Amino acid sequence: MAETLNAVFIEVDVDASVAGDAELAKKLEEVCPVDIFKAGGSGVEIVADNLDECVLCNLCVEAAPDGAVRVVKLYEQ
Ligand code: SF4
Repeated sequence: MAETLNAVFIEVDVDASVAGDAELAKKLEEVCPVDIFKAGGSGVEIVADNLDECVLCNLCVEAAPDGAVRVVKLYEQ
């Protein structure tokens, strides 16, 4: 029986309009349970190494202004 393994990759998209927002950066760093966001000197930073830990909890999306943060699921077959 053939088995297909689909790997899921998560991409987190931060809109340019809020990427430099230090307050939002701190908030995102706080809400994400797996530390995908980092409040850096230039605003919101994404910790690429942690992306595969995303639990799709949506807390980051809810913490940000409408549409400013998007969590995108990418599949590779
Ligand atoms: S959906 Fe949850 S785990 Fe994934 S990046 Fe947002 S806050 Fe972090």
